[in-house]
Amino acid sequence: MGERLSTVIVGGGPAGMVAGLLLARAGVRVTVLEKHRDFLRDFRGDTVHPSTLDLFRQIGLLGELLALPHARFDTATLDLLGRRYTIATLRHLPVVAPYIAMMPQWDLLDFIARQARRYPTFDLRMTTEAVAPVLDAAGRVAGVSLASGEALPARLVIAADGRRSVLREAAG
Ligand SMILES: Cc1cc2nc3c(=O)[nH]c(=O)nc-3n(C[C@H](O)[C@H](O)[C@H](O)COP(=O)(O)OP(=O)(O)OC[C@H]3O[C@@H](n4cnc5c(N)ncnc54)[C@H](O)[C@@H]3O)c2cc1C
Repeated sequence: MGERLSTVIVGGGPAGMVAGLLLARAGVRVTVLEKHRDFLRDFRGDTVHPSTLDLFRQIGLLGELLALPHARFDTATLDLLGRRYTIATLRHLPVVAPYIAMMPQWDLLDFIARQARRYPTFDLRMTTEAVAPVLDAAGRVAGVSLASGEALPARLVIAADGRRSVLREAAG
């Protein structure tokens, strides 16, 4: 195995990308592995909820996120027999953005990637699939092996490879 990377994150979904951004921002050398070529793939919804928007506020990126093209939705209404009824509203929520921002997940992930690339310790490797954790002699996770046959050593491996996580399964 080559030079020991500080942190490897498997999976460039929202969890892995935000973890990568935050670690890089804190000066940690981090490599995010994403098996797909780009973020433009299966539809993963387009509603960014008030609680998610609040997380972006907490990390200081809400303004830049909301500068991206999006639509806002804070009230659900029902038209019935010529009258319009309000059946739900988010306007009362105690957050700075009490609405749903409609934005495809790939735009959100591209945004996080652009933010993370501002930090020299961030590395995003697309088309890179991890297949298993690499264990050291003591049985500790010491890296990941890739579909290419390469092994990436790491001090910390974060499995953010989604609900069918190969790494979680392999790690028991
Ligand atoms: C149809 C659908 C619609 C949805 N709509 C919404 C919505 O409107 N609003 C909302 O907030 N949430 C929505 N969700 C939920 C949201 O998509 C998930 O909560 C979120 O994507 C989970 O993020 P994650 O990073 O944990 O996992 P994922 O988004 O699953 O990311 C995991 C990433 O890891 C990569 N990966 C997997 N295995 C490997 C491997 N071995 N090596 C390298 N990379 C790997 C995958 O390609 C993927 O990019 C929706 C989900 C679905 C399925």
